[in-house]
Formats: sequence, C-alpha cells, structure tokens
Amino acid sequence: MQPYNTAKIYRIVCNATAKCYIGATTLPTIQHRLKSHLAQFKSFNKGQGDFMSSFKILQSGDYIVELLENVKYVNRSEVDDIENKYINDNDCVNINRRTTCPHRLKNADAIREKTRQARTIKKTCECGSVITPQHMARHKRTMKHCRFIVTKTPTN
Ligand SMILES: [Zn+2]
Repeated sequence: MQPYNTAKIYRIVCNATAKCYIGATTLPTIQHRLKSHLAQFKSFNKGQGDFMSSFKILQSGDYIVELLENVKYVNRSEVDDIENKYINDNDCVNINRRTTCPHRLKNADAIREKTRQARTIKKTCECGSVITPQHMARHKRTMKHCRFIVTKTPTN
C-alpha cells in the first residue's frame, strides 16, 4: 500500500447567518487551524496581511468549527477536489476557489509563461541602453540615461 497523508476538511459556520467557510488542513486538529485563522484575523485588524474570506465568518464572533471529513491522500490535489465539492455544496463565503478544470489550469500556465517572457524581452531605451521592462524604472535614474536626457546624445 502506498504511504498516504491525512488532511481534515472543516467548516466554520456562522450561527447568525448559517453561512460557512470551508477549508482543508493538515494540522493535527481543526481547533489548531481555527486558532491560526483567528491569529490572521487579529493581524488583519492591526493592518497586517491580506483580507481572507474566513474573516467574514470570524467577524460575527458567533460561530462553530466542525469537522466534515478526514481525508487520506497521496496527492494534495485529491484534497482540493473534495474541498471544492464541499464549497460547491454549501452556502459558503469562500472566494479563493481553486481551479480544478484541467483546461483552465493549462491556460493559467500559458498565461504565466507569456507574462514571464514579456518581462524578459529587452527593449532599447532612447539613450541606447538595452533594458528589460522590469528594470526600466531603475535605468531611468542611472547616470547614463540622465546624461542622455541632458545631452540627447546616445552613448553607444
Ligand atoms: Zn535610457
């Protein structure tokens, strides 16, 4: 038998609205995971970190955390699939739904690759320097470029 890992699919349900947040964790208990959600929520309220959809439940202060399923898995994507199934079946606040459609995943890769390539295509600046777009802002502050702006004479 192949070695497997275990994950827990859980939900945090708001007692007032019955809306829920679905998540998956490999932490030993869902209480551990709730603690880390709360820590993130606290930091967010102090102006640190990004907004997470779980906060929509936590901010009511009236919620319960429930275990939905213990999952034994080899590949993490198996957990994502089950998590997605619960997200689709519940009235939940999750916004970061993972893409499971293979076509869309492939496309996302292609788009990422295109953006990566676009960033590495070098452009010739008016001063004659050859620069990648991501370094253009920095280049415009260099002596070489500034000298060109003053003298309007390319140096190479
Ligand atoms: Zn330049």
